[in-house]
Amino acid sequence: MKILFLDQSGKPGGAELCLIDIAKPYGHDALVGLFADGSFKELLLQNNIPVEVLRTEAIAVRKESGLIHGLNTLRQLLPLINKVVKKARKYDLIYANTQKALVVGAIASFFSRRPLVYHLHDILSTEHFSQTNLRVAVNLANRFASLVIANSQASKTAFIEAGGRQDIIEVVYNGFEPKNYQANESNIKRLQQNLELEGKFVVGHFSRLAPWKGQHILIDALAQCPPQVTAILVGDALFGEQNYVEQLHQQVAKLELENRVKFLGFRSDIPQLMAACDLVAHTSTSPEPFGRVIVEAMLCEKPVIAAKAGGAMELVEHGLNGFLVAPGEPQELAQAIVTCLQETEITATIAKNAIINASQRFDVATINHQIAQLLSERI
Ligand code: UDP
Repeated sequence: MKILFLDQSGKPGGAELCLIDIAKPYGHDALVGLFADGSFKELLLQNNIPVEVLRTEAIAVRKESGLIHGLNTLRQLLPLINKVVKKARKYDLIYANTQKALVVGAIASFFSRRPLVYHLHDILSTEHFSQTNLRVAVNLANRFASLVIANSQASKTAFIEAGGRQDIIEVVYNGFEPKNYQANESNIKRLQQNLELEGKFVVGHFSRLAPWKGQHILIDALAQCPPQVTAILVGDALFGEQNYVEQLHQQVAKLELENRVKFLGFRSDIPQLMAACDLVAHTSTSPEPFGRVIVEAMLCEKPVIAAKAGGAMELVEHGLNGFLVAPGEPQELAQAIVTCLQETEITATIAKNAIINASQRFDVATINHQIAQLLSERI
């Protein structure tokens, strides 16, 4: 099967990293069409996945845009749609991986007479999207998609609650290659030395810097933890959240935590960095659609504390393979961190359960097989 994948982003967020794993087995039968240039293109090339940047100017529409703005954007998109229609005729299927890709893919699917699959990586609720954007996404999916793949039950439920069709949506979790998360002891030691983390109890936070990812919650929690507890914040403001980055630095200064919080920016060595941590915290203040970092921490055999909402609740069973705390509650998070610091045996058992459980549930080969099966049944 020849697949034209579409993704709006030039930068690699969770949806883009997931796309790499899905597109890879198709080799030259796949083409990833991007709506922006950037480091995601480089990552695709490193993975030998054919890629083409179909548009170089950024698309102005934001997640919270209204109708008039949306219509103007649609006009600007016409040359891109035209290009996608022509490309799509050489493929069996259009696979839209983001919301703007859905808009372009839906129209292109109509004109090229190619089936459309929409991979839904978002919880379609007004917490994240304007009413207009929600309606556009749900209506286009209902009308044009042969299949919607939701990245969790939480994303599926939100889609249906927003008016999405039940008969076209299936849940498929993100897949991971467990062996990519095994780090080598001497590399971990070197990383710990370079980052001056030796002898500390290190809490890792791995996410783009954005208010709803809740890095500020971890910083507040840290102020309530013993002094040996240190945090590394891994990730960058991918979508222009510079004010939030400023706020985080101010918060660290105000709480006098400069020696206990390190901002590492965007990194490509996530498994190694996770291995250098004692635990991983996930602190999203809004429901997480899936939460790749949670599974990644499990695959690194690290205890994970996740915010109890959305997809995270499908990944973590409290006390069994991780810990769940109320979102947006630094005190509760601090307590959970201290438990991990003190109850080392129980915490190690939980981390062990997590790696066994995650290696089985999220194995990329099984997940890719599931997707291939769905595509062959529905298309
Ligand atoms: N990530 C990364 N480098 C960073 C920070 C994050 O490669 O500096 C990766 C992280 O390992 C995870 C993804 O970005 O695979 C984020 O996915 P998640 O589902 O956690 O959140 P999203 O970005 O999709 O909201």
